[in-house]
Amino acid sequence: MTQTQSTSNEPSCIFCRILRGEIPSTILRKSERSVIIADLSPQAPFHALVLPRRHAADLGAFMKDAAPGEIDDLFAQALTLIEERGFDRKGYRIVINTGEDGGQTVGHLHLHLLAGRNLGWPPG
Ligand code: AMP
Ligand code: ZN
Repeated sequence: MTQTQSTSNEPSCIFCRILRGEIPSTILRKSERSVIIADLSPQAPFHALVLPRRHAADLGAFMKDAAPGEIDDLFAQALTLIEERGFDRKGYRIVINTGEDGGQTVGHLHLHLLAGRNLGWPPG
């Protein structure tokens, strides 16, 4: 089994370890397919990470093996939490950093949810 094909059992992946409960995290929302946690180093008043339970290094790897509805779940969970917190009223940002130029530091696909201040554009 190659890395991109493996499921949520990557021993060394920090997000897989969080998903297995081996590393503590603040869980904000759970579904059968994903978990949303608070980012340890928030870059905005609200900064959460949507983690698919299935390990994939990035969006390309995730999409390659995605079952119907898997991507929908990530956005549906994100939007539900954003609406619950009322951030849809003033706005928010969803970001997927990918690869070296994209600023990705953890090799397990995740969506950043950012809100609570004017986020500015373009990003750094
Ligand atoms: P990226 O740089 O796009 O790969 O995002 C990785 C994110 O994971 C960063 O925003 C980190 O602050 C966050 N992060 C790293 N370790 C943890 C952790 N143990 N719990 C919560 N967030 C984390
Ligand atoms: Zn992982």
